[in-house]
Amino acid sequence: MLLEGKVAVVTGASRGIGRAIAEDLAAHGAAVVINYNASADAAEEVVAGIKANGGRATAVQADVSQFDQAQTLIKTALDSYGQIDILVNNAGTTRDKLLLMMKEADWDTVLDTNLKSVFNCCKAVARPMIRRKQGGRIINISSVAALVGQAGQANYAASKAGVIGFTKSLAKEVGSRQITVNAVTPGFFPTALTAVLPEDMVNTSLEYIPLGRWGELSEVAYLVSFLASDKAAYITGQVISVDGGLAM
Ligand code: NAP
Repeated sequence: MLLEGKVAVVTGASRGIGRAIAEDLAAHGAAVVINYNASADAAEEVVAGIKANGGRATAVQADVSQFDQAQTLIKTALDSYGQIDILVNNAGTTRDKLLLMMKEADWDTVLDTNLKSVFNCCKAVARPMIRRKQGGRIINISSVAALVGQAGQANYAASKAGVIGFTKSLAKEVGSRQITVNAVTPGFFPTALTAVLPEDMVNTSLEYIPLGRWGELSEVAYLVSFLASDKAAYITGQVISVDGGLAM
């Protein structure tokens, strides 16, 4: 088992990419804390599925855009499992609008949920990870939008580009402790986040993806499990696209 004996926290794991990541980490042997904000039933369903397959998981509610709640999430995970080896910052949201229509609240919500949450959770986990002296893995889910931009997503692309700068900086800060920090930039994946995209945008997206299709959730999840494993010990500060070639 690639992740036997490891403990992971995955933010926003009640559905979509986060759920797929949590399930894959558990399938590779990690105990997983399933963070959610509002979707308690969905999170409990993820936990039940992991347990039914012989894994270990717990659902923990926390709005990770809030500093204090992120602290509590990490403390709860430590109290439950005694250690955290892997943090996956996946929670995210969109408020797509052209800049001329974008409200201050659209900017603030997206920046807080997608970028401040990464600061909040990393800040909470860094000290316990360093103190334990066993290294660690932090994997931040950014987006292809950070690399190429997207009309109607100035807030989202800015938040996800911020995640990349944060990732590289933290990788330099904690590298000597054998804690790796990497960013993953997914392209298009079928989740609630992309279900709201207009049909013409969905069709146009396919023209720009060399592999000619959207990704499957398992295809981003397995990359994260690899980055979380001991096999990826010498990879840090990297931005790895899983996008069918969209951003190259
Ligand atoms: P999704 O299906 O909408 O799921 C979002 C998850 O984040 C849910 O579990 C949600 O839980 C959680 N969440 C949202 N705000 C939260 C908060 N403040 N605190 C804690 N949890 C919160 O979205 P997704 O498509 O799986 O996206 C996952 C990540 O991948 C995001 O960072 C997104 O930007 C990124 N991404 C997605 C795509 C794509 O094509 N889908 C492409 C590039 C990047 P609750 O329902 O409980 O709030």
